[in-house]
Amino acid sequence: MPHFDYPCPDCRATTSLHDADCRFEGTPWVEVERAYVDIVSVLAGGPCDEETLRREAPGEWGPLQQAALRRLKRDERVSDANSGVLRLRTAEEFREEVSEPTREPMRTLHQYGSVPGCHDNAVFAMIAWYEMVGLSWPETRENVVNWLRDTGAWDRGGFEEATPAELVEKKRHVYEAGYGWKEKAVSAKRVIDRYRS
Ligand SMILES: [Zn+2]
Repeated sequence: MPHFDYPCPDCRATTSLHDADCRFEGTPWVEVERAYVDIVSVLAGGPCDEETLRREAPGEWGPLQQAALRRLKRDERVSDANSGVLRLRTAEEFREEVSEPTREPMRTLHQYGSVPGCHDNAVFAMIAWYEMVGLSWPETRENVVNWLRDTGAWDRGGFEEATPAELVEKKRHVYEAGYGWKEKAVSAKRVIDRYRS
């Protein structure tokens, strides 16, 4: 199944397997990608407000373009921190600022770490997250190993492997396949919330 560089603006799928309730199910990928490219190409020329973006986007502005812009903001590829001025984050800025997840469900995973009963899902989600934000495999491995140690997840036990590094290395296929993090992160957060309450 082909994978796409840009996620579906609604459900974040990067294949033609959308979530059941996705509003863009069946939309040709070429249209999805064009919506993103139109936005990015305008913003690559410099920051501007949304009205200017709509006017200067090469294609017609519609619900798909609107959703793609919202997705770029939510994924923090585009910053609107400066009172409505849209700005494309540089790759470096994105990696530095965004690789730390600040939104749920990833925030809970990142902050509290995994607990027995959700290790598989939590580690999967963390690796998929770092892949999504553009970290290399060595950076991802280092971050996930540190996360297992620093959050106390490793000390909570329930792992078959001898070391965090061994565990993360065994999950390299998750990074290479570019799986989505959302579903696994939601499941893991549910278990972590229960554990903490
Ligand atoms: Zn979708």
